Amino acid sequence: MLRIYEQEQRLTPRHALIATRAHTYSLIDKHIRCARVSKIYIENCGPDQSRTIHIQKLQTILDDVRRCTLCANELPLPPNPVLQVSTTARVLIVGQAPGIRVHETGLPFNDPSGDRLRDWLGVTRDEFYDSRKFALLPMAFCYPGTGNSGDLPPPKRCADTWRQRLLSELADVRFTLLCGRYAINWHLPDTRGQALTTIVKETNERIVRIVATPHPSGRNNGWFAKNPWFDAEIVPKIQNHVQRALQNN
Ligand code: SF4
Repeated sequence: MLRIYEQEQRLTPRHALIATRAHTYSLIDKHIRCARVSKIYIENCGPDQSRTIHIQKLQTILDDVRRCTLCANELPLPPNPVLQVSTTARVLIVGQAPGIRVHETGLPFNDPSGDRLRDWLGVTRDEFYDSRKFALLPMAFCYPGTGNSGDLPPPKRCADTWRQRLLSELADVRFTLLCGRYAINWHLPDTRGQALTTIVKETNERIVRIVATPHPSGRNNGWFAKNPWFDAEIVPKIQNHVQRALQNN
């Protein structure tokens, strides 16, 4: 605890914004000044003063998200929002909602879905969990429980309450990957009613800097087996988008 306190003292006032819950606080890398706060990752490095307002607003929203209990009566476990965002993130990954392993570890996509996703992106775990680069913003932040066919849908209330506010502070996103129906329906509402395969093909041809995919969950293994063009054509495109988005310019 004392060590954590000392780390907090080394932060500048701007960085002190993030030191809100000492018992879960840990400095990931003091040089890049990233911090983990109650399973929400934020990062506020970067010299650009114009970013300060986004940083402060983002912190305020994240503080509110961390305290959120809107779905407490419907969730099988106490609310435990898991997401990763920063004002400098270049790549936005939109998933569904945390599974039980993500809920327990507090690490987004810390499961086989995440392994497949990282393969698509062509990045290591370290790169993926670098909040300067990747924002991981699912359609709901808390574990919704499971039903007969897997995890239950993300509570709509979460996106209604938080999504637009958070997206407004992600000022540098250059590429967005929409993983699964819920993400696609929210971000590309005009595609509602279309077959997923059609959406994946058409969005990759028509839309710049957004790629729609099935969710990387093993539940979609049948779809991936039936559609080998996805690995052959779409995955290399995704990797190219990611590399370009992360370039320094
Ligand atoms: S899912 Fe979202 S809206 Fe519901 S309790 Fe968690 S953070 Fe709040």
